[in-house]
Amino acid sequence: MSRRIILIVNAGSSSLKFSVFRLGDTDILQLAVRGQIDGIGTRPHLCVKDVTSAVVAERDFAIIEISNVQQAIWFAGDWLNEYFQDAQLLAVGHRVVHGGTDYSHPVLVDEAVFAALEQLIPLAPLHQPHNLAAIRVVREVQPQVPQIACFDTAFHRTHPQIADLYALPWKYYASGVRRYGFHGLSYEYIAATLPKVSPALAGGRVIAAHLGSGASLCAMQAGKSLDSTMGFSPLDGVPMGTRPGALDPGVLLYLINECGLSGADLEKLLYRESGLLGLSGISNDMRVLMESREPRAQLAIEYFLHYVIKQIGALAAVLGGIDGLVFTAGIGEHSPVIRARILQGCAWLGISVDAEANVRGGPRISMEDSPVAVWVIPTDEEWMIPRHTLALVFKKEKGYVN
Ligand code: ADP
Repeated sequence: MSRRIILIVNAGSSSLKFSVFRLGDTDILQLAVRGQIDGIGTRPHLCVKDVTSAVVAERDFAIIEISNVQQAIWFAGDWLNEYFQDAQLLAVGHRVVHGGTDYSHPVLVDEAVFAALEQLIPLAPLHQPHNLAAIRVVREVQPQVPQIACFDTAFHRTHPQIADLYALPWKYYASGVRRYGFHGLSYEYIAATLPKVSPALAGGRVIAAHLGSGASLCAMQAGKSLDSTMGFSPLDGVPMGTRPGALDPGVLLYLINECGLSGADLEKLLYRESGLLGLSGISNDMRVLMESREPRAQLAIEYFLHYVIKQIGALAAVLGGIDGLVFTAGIGEHSPVIRARILQGCAWLGISVDAEANVRGGPRISMEDSPVAVWVIPTDEEWMIPRHTLALVFKKEKGYVN
């Protein structure tokens, strides 16, 4: 069995996800384990599964044992050291939410890059500090191991300037108030997969709809992002599990000036209490809402559908018409009912749905002769990170990067 391994880390405020890939003799990556410590600071719990999904470790912790992401990564590191005793850690790849304007590709993290990524914390205060905390801990323990940062924003750096701007005075653009776009690793995966599933579509105009608990849509031309529904933060665009999607900024002024909400109150409202949860008053989970008979649950679903359909129309206009539509992520991959309703609302685009294929889950769910092809492609954001990590490690070995 190969000794060389790559560790992938996705560190958030309340969970640390990690996976380990073995690098075979032919430099093929094979998943060895996937794990996570969730409930950090509340009910810390570790669960690690091997490639057959068999549980290889499971444990609860006291809050003080794992009260922050640093402690989580310390613990995961100890566990991994023991489980992969004779292994050689080649590199660590991290999911990092924000790469700002400078990083349009994954990057090897050195002192200067780390400092630049720290400067971006104000742009993503809920995620970036945790992503960087994980890099810092690994650097302390294994300073010789290369670490690679893969960004959620990078894929969208191909946006034209018009899709990068807000109509605010220029000084704000200069200070970083731009439309960055998110879910980039997911869209990159879709763009990388399209040539295999439909070479004709890969070169065309495609809208990818990443509909999960976070949701966004991306307009792609020949596999490059031209526009997307998320902007400065992952709050904009279509409604999500707990985020409202597009909101008149006047509402925020009203909430601050008339209702007395503080910045912290607004953050909680916009990131955790709105969207499907806020509208339904029941749940942020689409499955729960679909099973509910409560009128507000149905209303929340209708609201979601309305804005997804509206954004598809908007992005189709940006692209000057579309050749394909791709559904991905939890709702997009698993709900034929939601897909059918969205496609019904997009019939004017010339989509002719293969109803049986839709119920089966695709992969192609439009009729052969449909002018717009519709596909269901399961995303695998976390698979992009080991690929990028390996590519950069090889380049480093060859001296192409520092
Ligand atoms: P994230 O990775 O952003 O946490 P996912 O991509 O896993 O989210 O998507 C989670 C969402 O997908 C939840 O709202 C869940 O209800 C929804 N979902 C998963 N399966 C189904 C299904 N069969 N029908 C409807 N919604 C589903």
